[in-house]
Amino acid sequence: MTAMASEVVLRWSGATDVGRVRSNNQDRYLAKPDEGLWVVADGMGGHQGGEIASLTACDALSEHFHRDPQGHATADGLVDAIETANRAVHDKGNDDPDLTGMGTTVVALAVVDDDSGDEVFAIANVGDSRAYRLADGVFEQLTEDHSLVADMVREGSLSPEDAVTHPQRNILTRVLGVYDEVPVDVITVIPHPGDRFVLCSDGLFNEVPDEGIASVLRRLADPVEAADELVRRAVQSGGRDNVTVVVVDVLEDGERAELASTALEGDDRDTASMAAYGGRAYAPDVLEEQSGATSRIRRARHRRRNPDDDAQHSTSRPRRFTWRVALFCLLVVALVGGVFATIQWYAQSAYFVGFDGNEVAIFRGRPGGVGWIDPELERTTDLSRRQLPDDVIPALRSGKEEGSLDDAQAYVDNLQARVDELEAAAESTTSTTVTTSTTAPPRTTTTQARPTSPAP
Ligand code: MN
Repeated sequence: MTAMASEVVLRWSGATDVGRVRSNNQDRYLAKPDEGLWVVADGMGGHQGGEIASLTACDALSEHFHRDPQGHATADGLVDAIETANRAVHDKGNDDPDLTGMGTTVVALAVVDDDSGDEVFAIANVGDSRAYRLADGVFEQLTEDHSLVADMVREGSLSPEDAVTHPQRNILTRVLGVYDEVPVDVITVIPHPGDRFVLCSDGLFNEVPDEGIASVLRRLADPVEAADELVRRAVQSGGRDNVTVVVVDVLEDGERAELASTALEGDDRDTASMAAYGGRAYAPDVLEEQSGATSRIRRARHRRRNPDDDAQHSTSRPRRFTWRVALFCLLVVALVGGVFATIQWYAQSAYFVGFDGNEVAIFRGRPGGVGWIDPELERTTDLSRRQLPDDVIPALRSGKEEGSLDDAQAYVDNLQARVDELEAAAESTTSTTVTTSTTAPPRTTTTQARPTSPAP
């Protein structure tokens, strides 16, 4: 279970747009995949204030959130960095009369160690920029907004539906940089393969309802496409505010294998990303900060970083990588292929007798299916549920497993024979009953006849 700790591989993308109404973009995102940090900030205040507030916050976070020499970071470290960012924005606002009162929201996702040393995501926020997660098809907001309408919704005086259109939905109850101290909310979340995380400014969720966001995330597997599409939809739906989206995906095992094979045939850069896979942190093309365009970096997680690693890798890199990558790929392919083949074989190597609606039928596969492999209807029979004796119904309902089609057919034949027998017996019982009832009238007649019998 904890194997994921050093194996989390992430892919991400960010996108931002000024929208259709505002003249400047006061949103900003920061992505530092080499540090395991992503941030969205939505600035506010004055002509230039908003832009400077979000920029100052991102710069401060970039500077103050870091890993120790062993590659460790903590949720507390993220909160500290946000508090430092708060002071940086606050100080800058105090120093310049034009910037007084500027502030910014912030929502940050960082890869950190939990108490037992496993890697988890820390998600921290101030204001109403949000973090969402799509996991196992369930889309949910992970952060609580620090806004007036969110307070009203929590108190029950406003419905979530009305909050979306409430005229005061822009009023925040917590902002970074307005006071010299600010409380920071932080949670930790265990990332699982296939999970998607989204950081965004209110320009997204005020324009696109949650179901719309979720459906884009379900439809577009590529984080670049997903982030671009979310921003596009927000702008298309009105674009009344700046809109910013960062999507961070935790890769599936299969995608990681694909990554490995790409590295095999790829150039140095891909090989370098595989190096990370082999145990060294991948330092991509510097800090990707608001490039305007989306960017995509395949990131491998830090293992405990060994100071000697870099030197080792730079001296013996080309050969060792190719060899190790090839071997690794082979192993992954063999392992994944083997597991798939085994499951496939297991799932399809048996037959069972069960119900197809109300008819008894023979299925190929295992009752209920195995993983993604559902049982298939092999053949139908003439038997239906109501003909069956009560004692066999539970077995058929859960599926009566047989080793082969012949065995399954033999079971059905037996069942058919038993049903025929029962029906024959039932028929004779019925005729007995008929006989009994036909014998009754004569008896009645007899009884009735009795008083009249003296007559003749
Ligand atoms: Mn906004």
